[in-house]
Amino acid sequence: METDILQKNNLLAQRNRGWFEAKGILALNLVSSPGSGKTSLLERTIRELGGRLPVAVIEGDQQTMNDANRIQQAGAPVVQVNTGNGCHLDADMVHRAFRELNPAEDSVLMIENVGNLVCPSLFDLGEAKRVVIMSVTEGEDKPLKYPNMFRSADICVINKIDLLPYLDFDLPKAKEYALQVNHHLTFIDLSVKSGEGFENWINWLMEQAGK
Ligand code: MG
Ligand code: ZN
Repeated sequence: METDILQKNNLLAQRNRGWFEAKGILALNLVSSPGSGKTSLLERTIRELGGRLPVAVIEGDQQTMNDANRIQQAGAPVVQVNTGNGCHLDADMVHRAFRELNPAEDSVLMIENVGNLVCPSLFDLGEAKRVVIMSVTEGEDKPLKYPNMFRSADICVINKIDLLPYLDFDLPKAKEYALQVNHHLTFIDLSVKSGEGFENWINWLMEQAGK
Protein backbone atom coordinates (compact mmCIF):
# COMPACT_ATOMS: atom_id res chain seq x y z
CA MET A 1 0.00 0.00 0.00
CA GLU A 2 2.64 2.51 1.07
CA THR A 3 4.93 1.36 -1.75
CA ASP A 4 2.13 1.99 -4.27
CA ILE A 5 1.63 5.52 -2.98
CA LEU A 6 5.33 6.26 -3.20
CA GLN A 7 5.69 4.75 -6.68
CA LYS A 8 2.77 6.80 -7.95
CA ASN A 9 4.26 9.88 -6.32
CA ASN A 10 7.65 9.23 -7.96
CA LEU A 11 6.04 9.13 -11.42
CA LEU A 12 4.21 12.40 -10.81
CA ALA A 13 7.40 13.95 -9.44
CA GLN A 14 9.26 13.01 -12.61
CA ARG A 15 6.51 14.66 -14.63
CA ASN A 16 6.82 17.82 -12.49
CA ARG A 17 10.59 17.77 -13.00
CA GLY A 18 10.09 17.69 -16.76
CA TRP A 19 7.76 20.68 -16.63
CA PHE A 20 10.09 22.68 -14.40
CA GLU A 21 13.02 21.98 -16.72
CA ALA A 22 11.02 22.85 -19.82
CA LYS A 23 10.29 26.30 -18.37
CA GLY A 24 13.82 26.77 -17.04
CA ILE A 25 12.47 26.87 -13.49
CA LEU A 26 14.74 26.05 -10.56
CA ALA A 27 12.50 24.22 -8.09
CA LEU A 28 13.64 23.89 -4.48
CA ASN A 29 11.94 21.82 -1.77
CA LEU A 30 12.42 23.45 1.64
CA VAL A 31 12.03 21.04 4.54
CA SER A 32 12.49 21.46 8.29
CA SER A 33 10.91 21.11 11.70
CA PRO A 34 8.22 23.67 12.52
CA GLY A 35 9.73 26.98 13.64
CA SER A 36 13.13 26.77 11.96
CA GLY A 37 12.37 29.96 10.03
CA LYS A 38 11.50 28.75 6.50
CA THR A 39 8.98 31.49 5.82
CA SER A 40 11.27 34.21 7.21
CA LEU A 41 14.09 32.86 5.03
CA LEU A 42 11.82 33.17 2.02
CA GLU A 43 10.67 36.69 2.92
CA ARG A 44 14.25 37.94 3.15
CA THR A 45 15.26 36.02 0.02
CA ILE A 46 12.47 37.61 -2.01
CA ARG A 47 13.47 41.07 -0.79
CA GLU A 48 17.20 40.59 -1.34
CA LEU A 49 16.91 39.01 -4.78
CA GLY A 50 14.81 41.97 -5.85
CA GLY A 51 14.61 42.06 -9.62
CA ARG A 52 17.67 39.83 -10.11
CA LEU A 53 15.78 36.57 -10.02
CA PRO A 54 11.98 36.18 -10.00
CA VAL A 55 10.73 34.01 -7.13
CA ALA A 56 7.37 32.20 -6.89
CA VAL A 57 6.29 30.23 -3.83
CA ILE A 58 4.13 27.23 -3.01
CA GLU A 59 3.32 27.28 0.71
CA GLY A 60 2.46 24.01 2.43
CA ASP A 61 0.79 24.04 5.85
CA GLN A 62 -1.87 21.92 7.45
CA GLN A 63 -4.07 24.98 7.99
CA THR A 64 -4.22 28.78 7.54
CA MET A 65 -3.21 31.26 4.86
CA ASN A 66 -0.78 33.00 7.25
CA ASP A 67 2.47 32.12 5.48
CA ALA A 68 1.02 32.82 2.03
CA ASN A 69 -0.04 36.27 3.24
CA ARG A 70 3.50 36.97 4.46
CA ILE A 71 5.01 35.87 1.13
CA GLN A 72 2.54 38.00 -0.79
CA GLN A 73 3.51 41.01 1.32
CA ALA A 74 7.17 40.32 0.56
CA GLY A 75 6.25 40.70 -3.09
CA ALA A 76 6.19 37.22 -4.63
CA PRO A 77 3.34 35.31 -6.28
CA VAL A 78 2.21 32.49 -3.98
CA VAL A 79 -0.26 29.62 -3.79
CA GLN A 80 -1.12 28.14 -0.40
CA VAL A 81 -1.75 24.40 -0.14
CA ASN A 82 -3.52 23.28 3.04
CA THR A 83 -2.96 19.60 3.65
CA GLY A 84 -5.52 19.25 6.47
CA ASN A 85 -4.54 16.11 8.35
CA GLY A 86 -1.70 15.43 5.93
CA CYS A 87 1.79 16.12 7.21
CA HIS A 88 3.64 16.56 3.90
CA LEU A 89 3.25 17.85 0.35
CA ASP A 90 3.12 15.32 -2.46
CA ALA A 91 3.89 15.66 -6.17
CA ASP A 92 0.22 15.88 -7.17
CA MET A 93 -0.44 18.79 -4.78
CA VAL A 94 2.61 20.57 -6.18
CA HIS A 95 1.46 19.87 -9.74
CA ARG A 96 -1.93 21.48 -9.10
CA ALA A 97 -0.43 24.44 -7.24
CA PHE A 98 2.14 24.89 -10.01
CA ARG A 99 -0.59 25.12 -12.64
CA GLU A 100 -2.44 27.72 -10.61
CA LEU A 101 0.73 29.70 -9.88
CA ASN A 102 2.08 29.49 -13.44
CA PRO A 103 5.54 30.87 -12.53
CA ALA A 104 7.54 32.92 -15.02
CA GLU A 105 10.14 31.18 -17.17
CA ASP A 106 13.64 31.12 -15.67
CA SER A 107 12.36 31.82 -12.17
CA VAL A 108 12.95 30.10 -8.86
CA LEU A 109 10.07 28.07 -7.47
CA MET A 110 10.35 27.77 -3.69
CA ILE A 111 8.23 24.96 -2.30
CA GLU A 112 7.88 25.38 1.46
CA ASN A 113 6.96 21.95 2.73
CA VAL A 114 4.92 21.26 5.87
CA GLY A 115 7.11 21.58 8.98
CA ASN A 116 7.94 17.93 9.64
CA LEU A 117 11.22 16.04 9.32
CA VAL A 118 9.68 12.60 8.83
CA CYS A 119 7.51 11.88 5.79
CA PRO A 120 8.47 14.85 3.57
CA SER A 121 11.75 12.95 3.15
CA LEU A 122 9.88 10.18 1.31
CA PHE A 123 8.00 12.36 -1.17
CA ASP A 124 9.89 13.61 -4.18
CA LEU A 125 8.14 16.74 -5.48
CA GLY A 126 10.18 17.02 -8.68
CA GLU A 127 12.55 19.54 -7.15
CA ALA A 128 16.07 20.14 -8.47
CA LYS A 129 17.47 20.48 -4.97
CA ARG A 130 16.22 19.68 -1.49
CA VAL A 131 17.13 22.20 1.19
CA VAL A 132 16.93 21.11 4.81
CA ILE A 133 16.84 23.94 7.32
CA MET A 134 17.72 23.56 10.96
CA SER A 135 18.12 26.26 13.53
CA VAL A 136 20.55 26.53 16.42
CA THR A 137 17.62 26.47 18.85
CA GLU A 138 17.18 22.77 18.01
CA GLY A 139 19.34 19.91 19.28
CA GLU A 140 22.52 19.35 17.29
CA ASP A 141 21.64 15.65 17.08
CA LYS A 142 18.61 16.28 14.80
CA PRO A 143 20.48 14.76 11.83
CA LEU A 144 20.95 11.52 13.79
CA LYS A 145 17.33 11.46 14.94
CA TYR A 146 15.94 12.14 11.45
CA PRO A 147 18.59 10.61 9.18
CA ASN A 148 16.31 10.09 6.15
CA MET A 149 15.69 13.80 5.84
CA PHE A 150 19.35 14.74 6.08
CA ARG A 151 20.33 11.89 3.78
CA SER A 152 17.89 13.02 1.08
CA ALA A 153 18.89 16.71 1.27
CA ASP A 154 21.40 18.41 -1.01
CA ILE A 155 22.19 21.34 1.22
CA CYS A 156 21.67 22.22 4.87
CA VAL A 157 20.94 25.78 5.94
CA ILE A 158 21.69 26.42 9.61
CA ASN A 159 19.62 29.41 10.70
CA LYS A 160 19.57 31.76 13.71
CA ILE A 161 23.36 31.79 14.16
CA ASP A 162 22.98 35.24 15.78
CA LEU A 163 21.74 33.29 18.84
CA LEU A 164 24.84 31.08 19.11
CA PRO A 165 26.46 33.13 21.94
CA TYR A 166 23.39 32.52 24.12
CA LEU A 167 23.01 28.79 23.49
CA ASP A 168 24.91 25.56 24.06
CA PHE A 169 24.42 24.54 20.42
CA ASP A 170 27.63 22.93 19.14
CA LEU A 171 27.79 23.95 15.47
CA PRO A 172 30.76 21.76 14.44
CA LYS A 173 29.10 18.79 16.16
CA ALA A 174 25.82 19.35 14.30
CA LYS A 175 27.69 19.34 11.00
CA GLU A 176 29.65 16.26 11.99
CA TYR A 177 26.39 14.41 12.73
CA ALA A 178 24.84 15.55 9.46
CA LEU A 179 27.91 14.40 7.53
CA GLN A 180 27.69 11.02 9.25
CA VAL A 181 24.35 10.41 7.53
CA ASN A 182 25.19 12.25 4.28
CA HIS A 183 28.82 12.95 3.47
CA HIS A 184 27.83 14.96 0.35
CA LEU A 185 25.90 17.54 2.37
CA THR A 186 27.07 21.15 2.21
CA PHE A 187 26.19 23.85 4.73
CA ILE A 188 25.26 27.49 4.78
CA ASP A 189 25.29 29.13 8.23
CA LEU A 190 23.22 32.26 8.40
CA SER A 191 20.90 34.43 10.37
CA VAL A 192 17.78 35.57 8.59
CA LYS A 193 17.35 38.15 11.34
CA SER A 194 20.80 39.76 11.40
CA GLY A 195 21.68 38.99 7.78
CA GLU A 196 24.99 37.37 8.77
CA GLY A 197 25.97 34.78 6.15
CA PHE A 198 22.91 35.54 4.07
CA GLU A 199 24.97 36.48 1.00
CA ASN A 200 26.21 32.86 0.84
CA TRP A 201 22.63 31.69 0.45
CA ILE A 202 21.91 34.32 -2.23
CA ASN A 203 25.11 33.36 -4.07
CA TRP A 204 24.19 29.70 -3.92
CA LEU A 205 20.75 30.47 -5.37
CA MET A 206 22.21 32.57 -8.20
CA GLU A 207 24.66 29.80 -8.98
CA GLN A 208 21.95 27.14 -9.01
CA ALA A 209 19.85 29.31 -11.32
CA GLY A 210 22.85 29.68 -13.63
CA LYS A 211 23.11 33.46 -13.13
MG1 MG B 1 6.20 28.63 7.31
ZN1 ZN C 1 3.16 13.10 5.99
